[in-house]
Amino acid sequence: HKDLTNGQGKEVVIRRGSQINYMDEFEWSGPLKVTMKSVFGIDNFRLCQEGVCNASMDGRDVVCVMPTGGGKSLTYQLPAIMSRGCTVVISPLLSLITDQILHLRQAGVEAVMLTGATPKEESKAIFSRLFASTRAIGSADGRGDKEIKLCYVTPEKIAKSKTFTSMLEKLATVGKLARIVIDEAHCVSQLGHDFRPDYKKLSILRQLFPHVPILALSATCPPKVLQDLLLTLRLKAVVDGNTADKTGTVYFTAPLYRKNLHYIQAMTDYILEHHAYDSGIIYCLSKKDTEAVAQGIMDASGNKVKAGVYHSDVTDAQKERLHVKWRSGEVQVVCATIAFGLGIDKSNVRFVLHHSMSKSLDGFYQESGRAGRDGNDADCVLYYRGQDASRLSALICGEIEGQDKLHQMLQFAQNLIDCRKIQFANYFSSSSSLALSSWSDTTAAGTLSRCGHCDNCTRSPDSITTRDVTLESWQILRVIERVSRHGGRVTVGMLADLVRGAGGGAFAGGTGGKRKGKAKATASSKEKVDLDLNDIAGGKIIMNKADVEVLIIQLLLSHHLKEEFHSTAYSINVYVTSGPQALRLTRLSRQQIQNGEGSRVSCTFLNKVATKRKAPSKSTSKTKHKPPAAVESEDEEEINIDVG
Ligand code: ADP
Ligand code: MG
Repeated sequence: HKDLTNGQGKEVVIRRGSQINYMDEFEWSGPLKVTMKSVFGIDNFRLCQEGVCNASMDGRDVVCVMPTGGGKSLTYQLPAIMSRGCTVVISPLLSLITDQILHLRQAGVEAVMLTGATPKEESKAIFSRLFASTRAIGSADGRGDKEIKLCYVTPEKIAKSKTFTSMLEKLATVGKLARIVIDEAHCVSQLGHDFRPDYKKLSILRQLFPHVPILALSATCPPKVLQDLLLTLRLKAVVDGNTADKTGTVYFTAPLYRKNLHYIQAMTDYILEHHAYDSGIIYCLSKKDTEAVAQGIMDASGNKVKAGVYHSDVTDAQKERLHVKWRSGEVQVVCATIAFGLGIDKSNVRFVLHHSMSKSLDGFYQESGRAGRDGNDADCVLYYRGQDASRLSALICGEIEGQDKLHQMLQFAQNLIDCRKIQFANYFSSSSSLALSSWSDTTAAGTLSRCGHCDNCTRSPDSITTRDVTLESWQILRVIERVSRHGGRVTVGMLADLVRGAGGGAFAGGTGGKRKGKAKATASSKEKVDLDLNDIAGGKIIMNKADVEVLIIQLLLSHHLKEEFHSTAYSINVYVTSGPQALRLTRLSRQQIQNGEGSRVSCTFLNKVATKRKAPSKSTSKTKHKPPAAVESEDEEEINIDVG
């Protein structure tokens, strides 16, 4: 045992006995977190980031498999900044490298790249800086410049440039080659889906630099590929746990199924940032979701947030135990279906998150109302994107007034302008006996005043854009018309892909067959029909997927589109098709639409840039609302709307 303080005065114990747990605290833990915050503005590690950083700092060879968007870059950038000398990063794509360099330089980190496209002059300058640093003692490179902390290269630099590898050998000799990072490491294996011959040649790295740690990163690495990767890179076998055998490769993986990753990650970040020590509830749509979300949140937070599940299949004894643990704070978050609610006698619930929206505004209001019963401030957040509507639609199919109620919920979720309190008030005064006046503080004119603290009240004007989307609506309706004519069926998500000309759009054809393919409609399971977007709609829609989904939902709500239900042996599927209002647009030509004829459609979108949440302001309301944050990744984007 070795006792140390973590740099923040907190005493830590590091076991150097039979087992090392890289999720523990180490002597570098404090500085690591301070640097993470000051350089990258990040407060908490995600998934297995902390373990990877610790093992790297400890000089181990590491393989880390984390889903795309999980945050692999931080796992080497942070140790690179904290370590003596230069970290070499091998990455296959110039565009990825350029992005990273830009990002790092903005954060004030010395990062350079050497690729086939680097001009001679620039590469010479980099070489001489690296050379100078082999002679320098401190952190400067001996000429007053800052030392290069990260050097990105494409794999052929290692495979083909003797000058470069011999420079690395010089660095290694004086202990200034901190580590070698191989991004997209599955590319070394022919068994993977993305084999690159130049990656195969990375096998020389271990021979050239036997004492320099290697960090291999990937988002997809099935067991066979992993074995092949270890073999090719000449890494030792993966050691079980983190044993004291310091020569074995440490393996980290963060399994989170992709569909849910963004919501789970966003919810975890949100809890850690705003309610790290508070109790809360997360409402989920299904029993299965409660399990996945609870596990996901524990994984994503590195077990900092303890979550339990509650649904109708949980036994009474288990429910009782959960209640006890939740009351005592041992369980921080209950992931629940709507079965959880009655009988909640906990008054200090500080947040209620909706992983899925409710079937109606009544439900949403009630569930959200379980926060802040002690009268103190609490937060309610709904995570929403347009395509979420499909699952709900399928669920309420057949319920009396189910569809109307869901549409009102959707209307609320899509409304980025009106005060949430006023939206609730209007809804309840028209649907129940709750009078408008019971919502207090009406203005002199007798109308309700805005609450001043919901997401829509605190939104900065440049976080949303309202614009005329009649042409895009017309394009969507033209495409759906054509799909229907060929007996095809599309969901909200598929339609959003299809009108954007994105690949992967699948159609359930007229005979029930499913086909995958680029903008292809299926007339029957035998016949394929090319959907020529230029011909049908005068081109594709240039908007991101989340925005197109929002527009599709709006067209549903305005009856330009409608839902169509089809049941299979296992489930009810919900598709979208032309609605009663569709003809108002489709009877016009593209030219007419462009000339401003016909009834116009406008829609409000959340701007893509992530909005930093403002600190909550003091309020009299028992729910708290914050500006929304938009999250975006390559093909799955979603908006997250904070409401109360
Ligand atoms: P990957 O390479 O695994 O696909 P990236 O390293 O590009 O993912 O990170 C994805 C995004 O997540 C980046 O915008 C990054 O800034 C952000 N990110 C990484 N780690 C964290 C964290 N611990 N907390 C919040 N955001 C993070
Ligand atoms: Mg990456």
